[in-house]
Amino acid sequence: MSETLELTKALLKKVSLTPEDAGCMDLMADYLQQRGFNIEWLNFGETKNLWARRGNSAPLFAFAGHTDVVPTGPVEEWDSPPFEPTLKDGLLYARGAADMKGSLAAMLTACDSFIAEHSTHQGSIAFLITSDEEGPAHDGTIRVMQTLDARNEKIDYCIVGEPTSHKVFGDMVRVGRRGSINGYLSLIGKQGHVAYPELVENPIHAFTPILQLLTQETWDNGNEFFPPTSFQISNINAGTGVENVVPGTLKVVFNLRFSSELTPEEIKRRITYMVDQNSDNYELIWKVSGLPFITERGELSDAVEQALLDETGSKPILSTAGGTSDGRFIAPSGAQVIELGPINESIHKINECVSVSDLDQLSRAYHKILANLLT
Ligand SMILES: [Zn+2]
Repeated sequence: MSETLELTKALLKKVSLTPEDAGCMDLMADYLQQRGFNIEWLNFGETKNLWARRGNSAPLFAFAGHTDVVPTGPVEEWDSPPFEPTLKDGLLYARGAADMKGSLAAMLTACDSFIAEHSTHQGSIAFLITSDEEGPAHDGTIRVMQTLDARNEKIDYCIVGEPTSHKVFGDMVRVGRRGSINGYLSLIGKQGHVAYPELVENPIHAFTPILQLLTQETWDNGNEFFPPTSFQISNINAGTGVENVVPGTLKVVFNLRFSSELTPEEIKRRITYMVDQNSDNYELIWKVSGLPFITERGELSDAVEQALLDETGSKPILSTAGGTSDGRFIAPSGAQVIELGPINESIHKINECVSVSDLDQLSRAYHKILANLLT
C-alpha cells in the first residue's frame, strides 16, 4: 500500500465534521515536524489552524487545504460506513476522500519525497491548513492570512488541494473565480383600482423598459480566463393577490456573476443609470458576495502545466468555473494561487470516493511542481 493511501486512510478515520478537526492536523504536524518543518498553531475562536514552514528564504511555496468535511447525509444510504475508509475496485470510499483528505496526504508525501531528493532546495515550503472551510470560513484561512500579513510573511506560490479534475486526473485546474453581486430593487408606484388608470402608477409597467435594458445588455466580453459576465433575475414580486388592484410596489432580486473586466462600482453605476432613466421613485440595495480573482500566467501556472504534462501526458485546462474556495482569501495578498486536486464528481455526495492511482499521481504532480519552482 502506498504511503499516500495509508495517510489518506488515517485522515479519513477521523470524524472531522466541519468545523471539527478531530486530530487530523496533529497527524499532519507530526509528519511535517519530523521533516524539518516549524509548527505553529494559529487558533481563532473554536477554529484550529496549522501554519507549518520549512526554511526562511524566499520564494515561499505554500500548500493550502482543509481537514473538515461536510456531513454524511443518511448513513444508511452509504454502501460502506462514511468514516471507515473502504477500498473497492481501485476506489477509496469515505467522506472527505476527494474533498480533500486525499490531497492533504498527497501534499505530505510529495514533500517527503521532494525533501529527500533535494535537501538543499531553494526557498521555503509551508502548509496552511484549516478546519473552517466547509462552514462559515470566518476563523480559518482568512485569519491566518491576516496574521501572516501583519508580520510581513508573504506567500509567493500557493497550491490549494481542492478537487478540480473533471473527467481524468489533472485535466483541469482552477486559476481563479468569478465575482458575485446581488441587487435588490424596489420600484414604488401608486396603488389603486385597475378601472381608474389616471389615479394609479403601475410599477410593473414602469419595470418593463428596465427589464429590457437589463436583459439585453452586453456587460462585457469576458477575457482569456473568464466567460462574459452574466445577469440573472431570481425573483420578481408584485401584486396584492386581487385582480382589480394595481400594486403599489414591485420587488426584483437579481445576481451578476462577473468577470475581472468589471468592478462592483461599474456594475452599480450602469444599472443605476438604467433605472434612473425610467423611475424617480425606487430603492436599490446591493450586496457583494465575492470579488473575482485570477492568477495570470506566470511561474506557478508554468510549473503546474509542466508537471501535469510530465505526469499525465497533457496540459490542464485553466478554469475559473465552480463555487468558492479558500483561494479567495489567499489571492488578494498577491500570491499566485492555483487549485489542483482529484476528480470532483463525488464530492459532498453519498459514497464520496477517490481513485487510489489518482492519489499517487497527485503526489507525484505536487512533487514535480515543487521541483519546478524550488530547484
Ligand atoms: Zn474542499
